[in-house]
Amino acid sequence: MEDITEAALDLRCPTRAQALSVLQSGDDVLLDVVAAAGRVRRAFFANRVKLNYLVNMKSGLCGEDCGYCSQRRGSEAGVLKYTWLTPEVVAEEAERAARRGAKRVCLVASGRGPSDRDLQRVAGTVASIRASRPELEICVCLGLLAPGQAARLKSAGVDAYNHNLNTGEAHYGRICSTHTFSDRVGTVRSAAEAGLSPCSGVIVGMGETDAQLVEVAFSLRDLEPESVPVNFLMPFPGTPLAGMNELTPAKCLRALAMFRFVFPDVEVRIAGGREMHLRSLQPLGLHIANSIFLGDYLTSEGAPAGDDLQMIRDAGFVVEDAGQGTLPPHRQTVMPALRRRGPGTRRPANA
Ligand code: SF4
Repeated sequence: MEDITEAALDLRCPTRAQALSVLQSGDDVLLDVVAAAGRVRRAFFANRVKLNYLVNMKSGLCGEDCGYCSQRRGSEAGVLKYTWLTPEVVAEEAERAARRGAKRVCLVASGRGPSDRDLQRVAGTVASIRASRPELEICVCLGLLAPGQAARLKSAGVDAYNHNLNTGEAHYGRICSTHTFSDRVGTVRSAAEAGLSPCSGVIVGMGETDAQLVEVAFSLRDLEPESVPVNFLMPFPGTPLAGMNELTPAKCLRALAMFRFVFPDVEVRIAGGREMHLRSLQPLGLHIANSIFLGDYLTSEGAPAGDDLQMIRDAGFVVEDAGQGTLPPHRQTVMPALRRRGPGTRRPANA
């Protein structure tokens, strides 16, 4: 643990063998693993927890066949099915989330990817949110992006784009047949190239090997995401992965620790499946990850927000303020100050 911790504190990538050894460590050293990852988390994120809030703008009705997804084609999971929420409804949801301390709203729509009309809708929704909550970070997740679409989202005022790689490239074909791992990589790259903050993560527990989980962590590292959601499979009845339940709380903590070591100074978020799989060990997860979702998920209900806020306080953490940067200073883009001197002002020019 000492070598991998020192490497992370120096922002050096662990070797694949070191990452694998974290996943394969025993329960007898679980608290050592949590403590080591916790040192890294504290070094870059102190005791802050960033809260994120999901809004499912369009639910179900997807033509893709992602095996983990209860919104996929042919799903018999009985999820809510509706088409686009209006900008006003989404803005109300964002307002509710901001009042509970959420710093980022994640606006998600099911489907392979957005049409031009969808992008117009999203632009209107972003404007509605910005009108009352300009400080909120807005991340959108609309599937695969065609050329030029990321730039349109950037001009609409979107801050970040989420598109998960989900699982290792070698395992991807067993999870989905309607698009490829490289399609996903391409969308994450195009979002970053357009200036959107790339958010991309995984779903743990889909039958992948430990080596494949390490593989996807390193694939993600190549894409330089600024946030990495770590989901734990919720194997809904009515989906192909129903009944696959190979996770334990300890296994989830080891996976989170491995992602922390690979992404020492990047937002690592405990995402879907937190309540189901970490169960009573959720507070230990906060010692590794610096970000969680508050409230409900896309198709499933989460814990009451008040309970999660209590857990954060009980574990000795504080909710990150809207005015605080999430990433450590060396990762933040320093924007030049807006001009407040020279022509058009009463102050002399800087010359
Ligand atoms: S993950 Fe997205 S693209 Fe895949 S089936 Fe679900 S909604 Fe469709």
